[in-house]
Amino acid sequence: MALKGEVQELIEACEQAGCPVCTLTGREMDRYFDHMLYMRVNEIELRADVRAAWGFCNRHASMLIRPAGALGTAIIYEDVLKNLLRALDGAQWEGGSRLRRRSGAEALVARLEPAHECVGCAHQRETERAYVRALVKYLGNEVDVVPELAAAYGRSDALCWRHLRMALRRVRKPATFELLVAAQRAAWERLGAELAEFIRKNDYRFTHEKMGPEGDSWQRVVRQVAGASGLGGEEDRSL
Ligand SMILES: [Zn+2]
Ligand SMILES: [Zn+2]
Repeated sequence: MALKGEVQELIEACEQAGCPVCTLTGREMDRYFDHMLYMRVNEIELRADVRAAWGFCNRHASMLIRPAGALGTAIIYEDVLKNLLRALDGAQWEGGSRLRRRSGAEALVARLEPAHECVGCAHQRETERAYVRALVKYLGNEVDVVPELAAAYGRSDALCWRHLRMALRRVRKPATFELLVAAQRAAWERLGAELAEFIRKNDYRFTHEKMGPEGDSWQRVVRQVAGASGLGGEEDRSL
């Protein structure tokens, strides 16, 4: 029996290096920005949301720099710039009393407050949620476990810490919990052994030993723990 598209997609992502939710989310974000820049630039609602967010957050703005994205990006950001300049209009210090000393700067800070979330962040959040839910679901949380997926997941690099937390929040069944934890432990232990070997071979006494597959483990550990580059967490609102 052919597996459902969603399950097949998860299995294929498990067979690649890195967190499968990062892999699938990254792929979807690529498709989303391609489609936006080629097809949706003149969509009124989208443009209003992008304008109100002053474009995109730093993370998603970097996704606009892509082949053939030039014209769409120029059109979107020309509009954003016009509105940023409008926000500067009438900006003045407004000296006067000590109490109102900073009122001009504060008014400008307020005008520069984004009135909408980055549309990339919103789409990424929905995408990640959908993939985490699907993974946990087919690992037996809501339906019978799909053995092909469980096997592929067991051999995979398992999840980055952020997607692991998301998955654990969804878990309702002990067997699904065990599957997730076992795969995570196996992946982290494999990685830890490779790192130890990499560090050992960097010792001057062993530098004559040829570096094996552990040679790039210092890069893989970063991606496997922190998640794929460009797919970070929530916006930091602590500033
Ligand atoms: Zn991830
Ligand atoms: Zn964003």
